[in-house]
Amino acid sequence: MALRRIRRLGDPVLQKVSKPVTEVNHKIVDLVHDMLETMYTANGVGLAAPQVGVLKRIVVVDVTPEGNQPIVMINPEIIAAEGSQTGDEGCLSVPGMAGTVTRPNEVTVRAYDLSMKPFEIKGTELLARAFCHEIDHLDGIVYVEKVEGRLHEVNAEES
Ligand code: ZN
Repeated sequence: MALRRIRRLGDPVLQKVSKPVTEVNHKIVDLVHDMLETMYTANGVGLAAPQVGVLKRIVVVDVTPEGNQPIVMINPEIIAAEGSQTGDEGCLSVPGMAGTVTRPNEVTVRAYDLSMKPFEIKGTELLARAFCHEIDHLDGIVYVEKVEGRLHEVNAEES
């Protein structure tokens, strides 16, 4: 495993649409492991492949405080959304900043695991927010485009 460099806002790769994964080979497995290590090291709750410069539809998420429940999603799609939540959101590609974004309060995502087996997962509150945020990255959307009002600075410990 290795840490990958997290691309910052302004890097054009963050505005590109990622391509679906057609086959999970050793390069994809390595990438997923590196993404998890990079996310945990940066104290993030989610990371999308384009954030490490790879335009593939792969997302990792872990919103647990212990960081022991990684969710790996290949070719994820939101298939249902309900309710709404408005709150602060941040991004490893926009360090030290946060902004208010309204998201669904509950989403169901269909994705594939590392064996290319399809699964569905439902997330509420922070998990729903993380799913929406990371899947947006796959379409070249960074949350700053959705912020209501202004971005504000946050303590690095909390970002
Ligand atoms: Zn992000």
